[in-house]
Amino acid sequence: MIKELHKKLINNETTSVKLTEEYFGKIKKRDNEIGAFLTLTEDLALDQARAVDDKIKKGEKIDLLAGIPCAVKDNVCLDGIRATAGSKILDNYIAPYDATVVKKLKEKNAVILGKTNLDEFAMGSSTENSAYHKTKNPADLERVPGGSSGGSAAAVAADEAVWALGSDTGGSIRQPASFCGTVGLKPTYGRVSRHGLIAMASSLDQIGPIAKTVEDAAIILSGISGEDNMDATTAKSSDKFYENYFTKDIKNIKIGIPEEYLNEGLNDKVREKFEAAVKKFKKLGAEIKKISLPHSEYSLPVYYIIMTSEVSSNLARFDGIKYGLRVNDKSDSNFEQGGLPRNLLETYLDSREYGLGEEVKRRIMLGTYTLSAGYYDAYYLKAQKVRALIKNDFKKVFKEVDVIFSPTAPETAFKFGEKMDDPLKMYLSDIYTVTANLAGVPAISFPIGTIPEKTRKLPAGGQLMGKWFDEENLLRVAHAYENGI
Ligand code: GLN
Repeated sequence: MIKELHKKLINNETTSVKLTEEYFGKIKKRDNEIGAFLTLTEDLALDQARAVDDKIKKGEKIDLLAGIPCAVKDNVCLDGIRATAGSKILDNYIAPYDATVVKKLKEKNAVILGKTNLDEFAMGSSTENSAYHKTKNPADLERVPGGSSGGSAAAVAADEAVWALGSDTGGSIRQPASFCGTVGLKPTYGRVSRHGLIAMASSLDQIGPIAKTVEDAAIILSGISGEDNMDATTAKSSDKFYENYFTKDIKNIKIGIPEEYLNEGLNDKVREKFEAAVKKFKKLGAEIKKISLPHSEYSLPVYYIIMTSEVSSNLARFDGIKYGLRVNDKSDSNFEQGGLPRNLLETYLDSREYGLGEEVKRRIMLGTYTLSAGYYDAYYLKAQKVRALIKNDFKKVFKEVDVIFSPTAPETAFKFGEKMDDPLKMYLSDIYTVTANLAGVPAISFPIGTIPEKTRKLPAGGQLMGKWFDEENLLRVAHAYENGI
């Protein structure tokens, strides 16, 4: 898709301004219903589009991403543009700088159409936790798009953007990609800079692409990855073009199937699609091996201890003083306009009580508890130890296989409201995705078929997890699947 559009641009079959206007046209037509966007950045987009068209006119070389319309999740900062992270507490927050990924995109003249909806502070699996509006799944408007990058996935699936950036702390790129029938890539921890990403859980967060094809995901990764002085967790890496590693067959590849991922929690129809996908990999020449990741059963509890602990610490800054919304006195009927200040503690309490949603408060409370003096050893420290065991499972298995294949989520997109009163049910949506974040390995979700549901067809996703910093092979295997017969 990106390469095709690129060709059209350089062959003067279209211009970036035309393409950009075409996409804004689609957004205007469809987004009332879908609700993928929170903010549109028309001026910025058209400026970039004009710059690309000028370069083409002058015969200058342009980047593959140049002139192509994309979208950015609203927890990634764009200089001078509102960044809400889906929260009321950041309703009036204007980002004062560009995130490193955005800086890179701007340097390449990518056309950013706007900012997409998400669960508040990226906490959720359905985008229903957004303080703003619902985002609907383009495959079935009665269903959620997944989350937390639901806006980005829906925008790409509805073709309101060619591709979009998401963030993934426990599955937030891959699970919505799977629910909407798109491709979603969470890079290795350290591959992409998080400078300018509104942090959720810093030892887990990664930014990555949601796209229409594996090739597009590879091109986008090439554009956004690399070491960054502004993020000390980024790894040294030579600039790579991940789209150049594709091969027709994957005969030398060993794919591991983790038995723990195929338990009774997996929906039967998703299982059928998954089994068919395994057969297809065999046909493409890969060797399939049963493997075991014995500590998988602890992934979700470990994730919900470590993630909430980090959330409680990261979100302490949203206190009505340092950022965003300030509530001076909630009992004052005019408090949204300012009201009268009482004292510092009341300002903190009222701002956080009013500005933060239920799920965010729940996680701050859980995390504060697991980090508290009396419980730190029993919960946080123990969870860190089990996290090391989970990582070791991967180290062992990667001596035997090159990639690991599983379903992305145990089911297809669910209906609005279905899991909102039971957080545990919602958390189960991430059962197959959180391990990649805990271990830090790269993982990609791609469509493995659709499941008929009344008059609709609901997309199902398969997930490949790769070795640390081996996005080449990960993308190569996913690409072979997507393009194989
Ligand atoms: N759905 C998961 C959660 O609620 C993952 C979130 C994410 O990856 N940002 O924590």
